[in-house]
Amino acid sequence: MSLKLLRQGLSGRPPERMWHSRPLKDEYEVVIIGGGAHGLACAYYLATQHGITDVAVLDKSYIGAGGSGRNTAIIRSNYLTPEGTNFYNESVRLYENLSVELDFNVMFSQRGHLTLAHTDASVRTMRRRAEVNRLQGVDSSLIWPEEISRLCPQLDLSDHPRYPILGALYHPPGGIIRHDAVVWGYAHQADALGVHIHQHTEVTGIDLTNGEVAGVRTSRGVIRTGTVLNATAGWASTIASMVGLSLPMETFPLQACVTEPLKPFLNVVIVSGSLHAYISQSDRGELVMGASVDPFASYSMNSSLEFLEGIAGHVLELFPCLSNVRVLRQWGGLCEMPPDFSPLMGFTPIKGFLIDAGWGTYGFKASPICGKTMAELIASGSTPDLIKPFRLSRFDEHDLVGEKGAASVGH
Ligand SMILES: Cc1cc2nc3c(=O)[nH]c(=O)nc-3n(C[C@H](O)[C@H](O)[C@H](O)COP(=O)(O)OP(=O)(O)OC[C@H]3O[C@@H](n4cnc5c(N)ncnc54)[C@H](O)[C@@H]3O)c2cc1C
Repeated sequence: MSLKLLRQGLSGRPPERMWHSRPLKDEYEVVIIGGGAHGLACAYYLATQHGITDVAVLDKSYIGAGGSGRNTAIIRSNYLTPEGTNFYNESVRLYENLSVELDFNVMFSQRGHLTLAHTDASVRTMRRRAEVNRLQGVDSSLIWPEEISRLCPQLDLSDHPRYPILGALYHPPGGIIRHDAVVWGYAHQADALGVHIHQHTEVTGIDLTNGEVAGVRTSRGVIRTGTVLNATAGWASTIASMVGLSLPMETFPLQACVTEPLKPFLNVVIVSGSLHAYISQSDRGELVMGASVDPFASYSMNSSLEFLEGIAGHVLELFPCLSNVRVLRQWGGLCEMPPDFSPLMGFTPIKGFLIDAGWGTYGFKASPICGKTMAELIASGSTPDLIKPFRLSRFDEHDLVGEKGAASVGH
């Protein structure tokens, strides 16, 4: 990559396009709605693993305009249920090799992830999570203030705060990544293999014939297809309603912000469920901070002063040393939350209409494994074992997967 960059710089020519604008065909074998990391990853694995390249990825905006370009890029696999832990662990494994696979540096920094426990009850939960994680082969343990202070000396570990820190769940493989690089890397390789990426192409309707998918209507014309994947995250309910399907989830806004850049000092990700706050330091030195979803269902991506006041207060309880640091910018995105905090993946009652949604505040880390398993499902016509627990029909079968390790601020 660096040699390529050097040659590029010396040549004086404009850089090569990462993906291209192609003419919109009137028929594709597979149409993926949503040009986020999930949709693009699925297109990439359809092409690389299954030789299916007659694929269109449609996005009403630019690629990465949704949660994929707005998230705080935390990657981890220390979930609470065995189903969730196994699933996210496979994703972490794919992320570990992604820069090589995509020939693009996605800057995955496995710096360690700490979930703080401020009460006896949360110490008990962390202990249980650590046990479940270890049984599934995930590196995760309960640690105490002495070790926490070694990993993060700037944290206030005294008994002065309202909620003193009693312990933490430590997950060394967790970390942060460059989210837009993941989007661009998948887009670049999918495009190179023949996938068509159509930005600014809004899906406005889905045509059914005898109850089966026959095509999609878009702002640029009609496309015939027998297979549609709904990978639109926060907007997934609006797409599902086009085939008369009501999904068991609601969409909420989620906000985040970054501070001005500081010298590197924070080399772990810190999450506090009790304070509803999390913080990490990006490679540029900015502190990336977020909280839980706004308390009302909405499609608004506005930011609010209320969020900023809340997060600033809570982060200062953890790190009083940051009191003079200025916030640089803030933003919002959409998160679609199913009641059991587990995703909705796979077939639906409508033949040809597939779903990959229900990603709440935690879906970016799942992008590679979602792309891979959904591609396998499309190519083989059967559901891979890893995602069977997340089938939509679990709501009719009373077989929910209560993933409390994803709830609240559990990114
Ligand atoms: C502030 C914030 C912080 C987060 N932090 C984390 C984190 O640290 N770790 C983590 O794992 N997850 C995190 N998430 C969640 C994560 O961002 C999402 O779960 C994930 O990015 C979803 O990816 P996706 O590809 O499924 O959807 P998206 O990236 O949301 O893409 C969906 C796309 O569908 C398009 N679309 C919608 N309607 C239509 C239509 N009618 N026609 C065509 N296109 C359409 C949109 O334009 C959009 O680009 C966070 C989210 C937010 C908002």
